[in-house]
Amino acid sequence: MGCSPAWPNPGGAQSGYLLEGSGRLLMDCGPGVLARLRDEEGWPRVDAIAITHFHLDHWGDLVPWVWGSLYGLGHDLPRVELWLSPRGAEQLSEFGQRLGWPDMFERVFDLRAYEEGEPFEAAGFSVLPLRLPHYTLETYGFRVTNDDKTLAYSGDSGPSDQLAELARDADLFVCEATLLTGDADGQPRGHLSLDEVQAAFDASGAKRLLITHRPHELPTDDGYEVAYDGLDIEV
Ligand SMILES: [Zn+2]
Repeated sequence: MGCSPAWPNPGGAQSGYLLEGSGRLLMDCGPGVLARLRDEEGWPRVDAIAITHFHLDHWGDLVPWVWGSLYGLGHDLPRVELWLSPRGAEQLSEFGQRLGWPDMFERVFDLRAYEEGEPFEAAGFSVLPLRLPHYTLETYGFRVTNDDKTLAYSGDSGPSDQLAELARDADLFVCEATLLTGDADGQPRGHLSLDEVQAAFDASGAKRLLITHRPHELPTDDGYEVAYDGLDIEV
């Protein structure tokens, strides 16, 4: 639905990836994603949302999702499971104190906590969260399977051997490449350059690579498949 980095690409939405199988799972929900989903249906019908980390570009549209669920077209729809990192509910409560009410998110969503390395079931998928390095923020990548196909999603990550584990032999590896070069990053590292993505992909044995979270203004070598908003892929 959206693939922009921390600042939006022209006309773009930020992080949001909708997996459709026996159910519908939205991975991350950044600014612009809710509007994109609403382009397809009055109010999004998803079974579960899973958030990788609490940078705004990965969760910000949960705020208007609350308002639309309380006062708009989402009002009469079933509650959506919201899967968060172990301390995620606490973090959302802190955001809620400033943005509305401390319990604004739990009024609308069924809050669930995932644990590092422990698969959870959501929207008919099995999702394995693995911890990844992203500056000093607690961050996870997701390895998602329906027992037939497997997709790995990096979320945001600096270089790590865990990326290859996350995407081990996956059918599709959706991986961020925010940087032109690794030395453009802060310390500790938090994002990847294309050559670092390529190294993780090669080490993973994954079958197909989709680059995402890539600033529009950066060049991307020919031969890479690069995400765009609205891209629809059969895994
Ligand atoms: Zn981030």
